[in-house]
Amino acid sequence: MARYIGPVCRLCRREGMKLFLKGERCYTEKCGIEKRNFVPGQHGKARKQKLVGYGVQLREKQKVKRIYGVLEDQFRRYFEAAERTRGITGETLLQLLERRLDNVTYRAGFATSRAQARQLVRHGHFTVNGRKVDIPSFSMKVGDVLAIRQTSAQHPAILHAREEIKGRGVPEWLRVEGDVAAKVNSLPTREQINLPVQEQLIVELYSK
Ligand code: SF4
Repeated sequence: MARYIGPVCRLCRREGMKLFLKGERCYTEKCGIEKRNFVPGQHGKARKQKLVGYGVQLREKQKVKRIYGVLEDQFRRYFEAAERTRGITGETLLQLLERRLDNVTYRAGFATSRAQARQLVRHGHFTVNGRKVDIPSFSMKVGDVLAIRQTSAQHPAILHAREEIKGRGVPEWLRVEGDVAAKVNSLPTREQINLPVQEQLIVELYSK
């Protein structure tokens, strides 16, 4: 599946907020938002954004896509799946994105960012329920167990991420077992998906 490969700090600057796409760097003064908190581009500094209606909805959608590292077509498919599911469409959409294997890997503290999690998954460092899975979009269910493969237990990036998670914390819907595995205890509730987004705006955008 295709992914964005351009400069990522630019994405945060476009949204005017930290999207935490680069792991630890996001918490330092090297963060692009800390250094240049204005819209990227030649006239970015002079540009005063006055968003209303469609513009606000569009930015909200872009923000969520960028946080989870999903491109338009795939994001649209998540939305359509959320629409077909009973419940509040916006919340279901976020739930589907949270259940992605790369996101669960990041949330469990086996990677410092979703982008790194995606790469580690692609490189085959994890199993789900004992079987190797290298598809970042793989959807985790309640009861599924994500585990670091034995041969990857000493991978420097994973070891480093496990240290970093001590400051970040694992969400309640996941239970980390012995530092090498994480079980999906329940599906995340909206409160547990700690993101500053108004998913209702995305529903409104796609419902036009
Ligand atoms: Fe965004 Fe992280 Fe870059 Fe800061 S360092 S602009 S939060 S990706």
